[in-house]
Amino acid sequence: MSFSQPQTRLRVAVIGGGMAGLVLTLFLQKHSPDVQVDIYESAQALSEVGAGITMWPRVWEIVEQLGFGEELNEIASGPAGKTPSFTYYKGDQPEMQLAFRRKPLARMFHRSQLQTLFAKHIQNIDQVIHFGKRLSDYVAPASGTGEITLNFRDGTSATCDVVLGSDGIRSAVRHTMYEDMAKAASDEKAATELRQVSVPIWSGNIVYRGLIPVESLAEDMKAEVVTWIRVFLGKNQHIICYPIAQGKFINLANFVFTPEGEGTQYDGPWVSHVSAEAVVEKFGGWDPLIQTLMKGMSDPLAWAVHRLKELPTFSSGRVALLGDAAHAMTPFQASGLGQAIEDGFVLASILAQTNVTASNVAEALKIYDKIRRPFAQNIQRLSDVNGHCQHLRRCGWEDVTAEESSRGGFAQERFDAVSELLASQMKWTQESMMGERDEALRMVKALAA
Ligand SMILES: Cc1cc2nc3c(=O)[nH]c(=O)nc-3n(C[C@H](O)[C@H](O)[C@H](O)COP(=O)(O)OP(=O)(O)OC[C@H]3O[C@@H](n4cnc5c(N)ncnc54)[C@H](O)[C@@H]3O)c2cc1C
Repeated sequence: MSFSQPQTRLRVAVIGGGMAGLVLTLFLQKHSPDVQVDIYESAQALSEVGAGITMWPRVWEIVEQLGFGEELNEIASGPAGKTPSFTYYKGDQPEMQLAFRRKPLARMFHRSQLQTLFAKHIQNIDQVIHFGKRLSDYVAPASGTGEITLNFRDGTSATCDVVLGSDGIRSAVRHTMYEDMAKAASDEKAATELRQVSVPIWSGNIVYRGLIPVESLAEDMKAEVVTWIRVFLGKNQHIICYPIAQGKFINLANFVFTPEGEGTQYDGPWVSHVSAEAVVEKFGGWDPLIQTLMKGMSDPLAWAVHRLKELPTFSSGRVALLGDAAHAMTPFQASGLGQAIEDGFVLASILAQTNVTASNVAEALKIYDKIRRPFAQNIQRLSDVNGHCQHLRRCGWEDVTAEESSRGGFAQERFDAVSELLASQMKWTQESMMGERDEALRMVKALAA
């Protein structure tokens, strides 16, 4: 008996093998045997920052469809059936004060465990991922048909029918797309706007991220912290703390917000090494328990948190953006990756439709943009609002100075207002997105072949 390979309908180049690119590829491989996928990744191997990542039920419903939910559950903290309690304290005072509790369903992962699992399930990974291939730009024929050429920094090139840019916040795909759009713009003002809108901006936040090996903690603390999902609120500062890797590590993310920096260009490296002592110094006056935890961080990194402005489009011709390349956001909805996964799922579902070919794929990508952009950009906005909430800059806290805040003794109603706003802002994370996928498919099926 002989099996014939399906004829290739589309050749897709995925630029960037971060988690957005990997999940997109998994869905393409699962649903589109007639789509050839190649990932071009600038690094020599897959790697992720040593930190935690939260996944909400909306995203879990999608990744479960990849068919290895059980394996994912094994590496998750906060598994199915258990409702983790997020406990919020006010931390920027000598003794922390319980503020409120929320119980949204969530799973927490160690990033590199999650990435390794995604990569493990990619078929023929050695042929699919091309390492050491940093895209410099691409050339798409003005006619809208014919091969697109990808040019890499090492002087080599490759061709494809469709380019999907999952190359992160400093995306070369986005740069080329917006430069091409600027060149084709009707006037100089429109061209300048297109060039400016695609440049990332600093959110005003520095996050000091690190993992604490639970083994290194004192016995009495160890037992307590492995059950924690805690958020410590403070004026222009806050901390997120939760266990990952089946309780082997505590993930600590310590944020410091500089209001004047919001929306500016950051002057300095975006990521740098910092000592745990230097981080503790930034949180002087906070509850001593929090300071003790911080001292336990191994090799913390300081990240200048950047975001993108709201792009006028995620697609142009046969090229589309996804993940941080399209909508890098502040991390205060814990949703940048979740939104990237939604992008990948919708894109792969669209490209799986057999009426989508090289001649109408540009129209199909417009449908992706129409469905995904308004939603993802709303989350970008909500995320900024959450940040301001957690930095005690909204909900009646506007006029409280850092000094007043550090004295503590605030009435419960002040915390209730923050709690209510966060709950209403995060409601969507517990809801399904399948209706949006179905809407995209309805539109794609109506496309002329
Ligand atoms: C402190 C913090 C906490 C967060 N917490 C959460 C959370 O709890 N939940 C959540 O959902 N999200 C969270 N996020 C957001 C999340 O980390 C990102 O949105 C997500 O990792 C983006 O994935 P990506 O694949 O789009 O981009 P990236 O992870 O940046 O991957 C881009 C890939 O492209 C490659 N690349 C770059 N340029 C090129 C090029 N020119 N050519 C080829 N390859 C290239 C890179 O090497 C990389 O592999 C958090 C972010 C931060 C900063």
